[in-house]
Amino acid sequence: MNQTASLDLPLPACNPWLAHSVTIDRITPEVAGVSTYHLRFVDPEAARNYRFRPGQFNMLYLPGVGESAISLSADPRGHVTWAHTVRTAGNVTQTLAKLGVGGSLGLRGPFGSCWPLDQAMGKDLILVAGGIGLPPLRPVIYEIAARRDEFASVAVLYGARTPDTLLYQAEYDAWRKAGIDLHLTADMSGAGWNGAVGVVPLLLDRLPLADAARTQVWMCGPEVMLKYTVKSALRRGIPAGNLWLSMERNMQCAIGLCGHCQLGPEFVCRNGPVFPWNRMAPYLDVKGL
Ligand SMILES: Cc1cc2nc3c(=O)[nH]c(=O)nc-3n(C[C@H](O)[C@H](O)[C@H](O)COP(=O)(O)OP(=O)(O)OC[C@H]3O[C@@H](n4cnc5c(N)ncnc54)[C@H](O)[C@@H]3O)c2cc1C
Repeated sequence: MNQTASLDLPLPACNPWLAHSVTIDRITPEVAGVSTYHLRFVDPEAARNYRFRPGQFNMLYLPGVGESAISLSADPRGHVTWAHTVRTAGNVTQTLAKLGVGGSLGLRGPFGSCWPLDQAMGKDLILVAGGIGLPPLRPVIYEIAARRDEFASVAVLYGARTPDTLLYQAEYDAWRKAGIDLHLTADMSGAGWNGAVGVVPLLLDRLPLADAARTQVWMCGPEVMLKYTVKSALRRGIPAGNLWLSMERNMQCAIGLCGHCQLGPEFVCRNGPVFPWNRMAPYLDVKGL
């Protein structure tokens, strides 16, 4: 059963120290090594009050193992279960992958900044994602699909290493039907693949732009992809102030105390993960940061 939540309501304050108990309601295997976990709050009041904005993340806590930052990949319009798409990497995500439906874990959040949807209204919007960089943009896609007439053109440029590692393939038809112009690429071709071959920024090089000055580009993916996407956008005449990115830096506390995610004066957890490109640009090329 879903409840409808308006994004216009103010977000309830999140107690950053409180780990809510959640259970795995459903697991959607996405591609090899990546699954979406649909989490349900145990406490009905926490379930009722939980809201997030597209771009925000939760800290998922496995007692005795550790905690990891994971973006919400859910529809923000008030589902009772909250999707998190997770790639198995180290201790926490490996343990999560072994929990089945009904397994319990802790959840703190939501944390962080969100994509500037209000700034994109009436404008052309391009979402650019590489690999596991798509989950933090999926809530934006859901939101745009629900409010499509409030935006001008909307394009999603998405790439993965191989065609069989592209996430959310079952949803592409629905996105296209909702008026989203989806362009896919794979670094390497594969059986039955008729799409583009090459890295994601090449899709931006080729995308026709109605008016570069009123085009917004929001991106998430490996830092090398972000760097070349920005180069392409600037070359196409899109103003630097229209570029936004989500940083998925190593993170530990989520509340700006430990410094693991620090880049210069910016704490990705507290000031991000969604940043205007201008604010991150001075730090991304500094080796060792
Ligand atoms: C804001 C934010 C949102 C994120 N959203 C998602 C998401 O939606 N889905 C998802 O699968 N992952 C996401 N991540 C990355 C995830 O938090 C890390 O992969 C996490 O460390 C996995 O925990 P672990 O204990 O399994 O692995 P760890 O033992 O912590 O790490 C395993 C390996 O991954 C490396 N690593 C750790 N953190 C990162 C990172 N942030 N980026 C790249 N490499 C890293 C480590 O150096 C190590 O080599 C996000 C990170 C941030 C900061």
